[in-house]
Amino acid sequence: MADGADRSLFGEAAEAPAAHEGVYAEVAVQKPLRCEFTYRVPAELADRLRPGMRVAVPFGRRREVGVVTALTDSTDLAPSRTKSIAALLDDEPVVDGALLDLTRWMAGYYACSWGEALGAILPAALKREKGTKKRLMIAPVAGVGADQLAEVEEKFPKQHRLLRTVLEIGEATELRDLTRRLNLSDAPARSLAKRGWVTLEKVDAAPDELAQADATERARPDQLTAQQADAVGAIAEALDAREYRTFLLQGVTGSGKTEVYLRVIEHALAQGRGAIVLVPEIALTPQTVGWFRSRFGEVAVLHSRMTDAQRHDMWQRVRRGEARVVVGARSALFAPVQDLGVIVVDEEHEPSFKQGNAPRYHARDVAVVRAHRAGAVCVLGSATPSLESWRNAKAGRYERLILSERVRGIRMPAIEVVDMREEIPEQEGPKLFSRRLGVYLRQTLERGEQSILFLNRRGYSPVLWCRECGETVRCKQCDVSLTYHRRINKLTCHSCCEEIDPPKACPSCTAPGLRFLGLGSERIEDSLAELLPGARVARMDSDTMLRREDYERTLAAFGAGEVDVLVGTQMIAKGLDFPRVTLVGIVDADSGLHLPDFRASERTFQLLAQVAGRAGRGELDGRIVIQTSTPDHDAITRAANHDYEGFAAVEDELRADLAYPPHGRLIRAVLEDTDESKVKAAGAALADLLRTRVGPEGVMVLGPAPCPMALLRGRHRHHILLKAEPASPALATARDLLVGFSEEFARPRTTIDVDPVGLM
Ligand code: ADP
Ligand code: ZN
Repeated sequence: MADGADRSLFGEAAEAPAAHEGVYAEVAVQKPLRCEFTYRVPAELADRLRPGMRVAVPFGRRREVGVVTALTDSTDLAPSRTKSIAALLDDEPVVDGALLDLTRWMAGYYACSWGEALGAILPAALKREKGTKKRLMIAPVAGVGADQLAEVEEKFPKQHRLLRTVLEIGEATELRDLTRRLNLSDAPARSLAKRGWVTLEKVDAAPDELAQADATERARPDQLTAQQADAVGAIAEALDAREYRTFLLQGVTGSGKTEVYLRVIEHALAQGRGAIVLVPEIALTPQTVGWFRSRFGEVAVLHSRMTDAQRHDMWQRVRRGEARVVVGARSALFAPVQDLGVIVVDEEHEPSFKQGNAPRYHARDVAVVRAHRAGAVCVLGSATPSLESWRNAKAGRYERLILSERVRGIRMPAIEVVDMREEIPEQEGPKLFSRRLGVYLRQTLERGEQSILFLNRRGYSPVLWCRECGETVRCKQCDVSLTYHRRINKLTCHSCCEEIDPPKACPSCTAPGLRFLGLGSERIEDSLAELLPGARVARMDSDTMLRREDYERTLAAFGAGEVDVLVGTQMIAKGLDFPRVTLVGIVDADSGLHLPDFRASERTFQLLAQVAGRAGRGELDGRIVIQTSTPDHDAITRAANHDYEGFAAVEDELRADLAYPPHGRLIRAVLEDTDESKVKAAGAALADLLRTRVGPEGVMVLGPAPCPMALLRGRHRHHILLKAEPASPALATARDLLVGFSEEFARPRTTIDVDPVGLM
């Protein structure tokens, strides 16, 4: 068995796989066991087997698919203990030497197994031995409606939740999408099918709409702005030198970053090299894909909603070099592009580039490593770079390119901050709209222009509060307040998706008269009907946008001027480019500011800047109103002044004082179990172990302490945070101790998150 971990950031490259006469193969399987397994190579396979090929192997009592990582002609294991490879699944390696090497590095760095890292890069079709699954579709049966809903509402809330959603969609939908969204198993669907209220049918996959997306013209401007030209020039120079370099393209919203990416990719293609473009999942629309397709023709698209077969097909086309430009979300980073010239990471500050389950990798950081190893150029683009990238640029590790002006002389929108503490409420309850925002909304409507209202909270009201005892109504399985959703008249847990009927009296003290506190997007939509009678309002949040198609349809309607006001959550913060939007209202800028996370301020600043960037992108000037109760907070004053640089400098100093990233590195271990005493005991033991072995000079051990979300889906959660100097060798030791601990004890479950982006 070999340890897959490579401890240095830019570890030595493994030698390229070559045909081998070896008798033993090291095989990585997709299990959290951080080692590879040795198998005997049957004689008939000996001259065909190479690293990077998939094999089927006996594993315990089962048969698993694994990837051959190395071939050797000797083993320390007793011959009687080595089993033989059962079958070879490929004619040629599916993972080339560079990607094998990259995944090995990921396994070491992110404290997962090599097999898990490989699992992130291989399309699912490659992970299973047999072919591709079909899609299971669920559809409502005609005539089923309110009566049936009422019948299951009391006794079978899960069936109720599913049936309600299926009826709302009104046509066949992929079951997997719904069960994931509603946090359900397949059981409620089967029960509903048994009742004859829905049909379940397996179908062949429909063609992927993004793969089919038509080329959308994005006129190639004859002339770049001076700043664009400088940026393209600097990056092209690095391409010509065939050198690794990372650039931070810091450009305000509307400054033409996309045009820079397009020119750089043109340059790489002209050299005969390939390109990968990563965008946040939400920004991966037919329009975005179309821009790239109109310039480059053959563009491969990779994203999480594709079926296995579609991903497999794309993957093959890229491997054969038929498509040399890949556009996609996080996992597109691993596309087998030959002779890679450039990797672009757009909106590099987006937390969604970090994967939430093993391997918990950050696509931006791995992009830099992949580019480094390939001798390629990495371009990180953002209007509001992460503090990590900003610091890397300051320290000279990345080269910063700045686009400070919008193209075509368009001005940055004027931003007005409204202090909500000084607003006199017109009615009881929360203050939704300041007078100023109300006036602007009316004026905008009268001029026939469009508005966007942003509130990063869905539902009607996030808290139901008892004024007698001060308690709020909380989820029994999760440590969070339940959100009231008025349209369905339920209290919903935004962590586990369970629903209950709103209680008439306080569950804690039985006093009647619970009150709604706070506001959500649903409430904004309702109030707009009063404020702007006759206005056409659309709401965009994950309650209304049940499917991707809904999202695209609503955006298209907004673009066509069929909607006057778009109300939404972070779904609308990104990438929307509508020239008739002249007003953006941020209803409650404070909602994310007080979260127990050291990045709360940075996130708020980024979100405000992104949302503000949606206004005034055409000929018409734009106006932004930020409503807040903390108008002097740095994130708000700086956002109002378009002062990213000032914000970053102050925030960077605060982080330095506390040794938080980017001045320190973090590893987070979360222990979870239904039994709280187990979690407490294990947490204390683990913290002791860490403190004796690595503390306190090398690594600061914080905790154990209950996580901010101390109870999630019925599991108690405690965490330990390790903090260290970025280059501290003790951090690697601590990581190994965590790995050892997590493998030794099945309960409580320990998850290790290296460079976490969330601390909840
Ligand atoms: P960003 O990504 O920085 O927000 P975009 O790349 O979306 O900005 O560009 C904003 C708009 O400006 C787009 O409509 C784009 O076609 C246009 N544009 C980009 N570069 C130029 C240029 N040099 N001259 C004229 N228009 C341009
Ligand atoms: Zn819950």
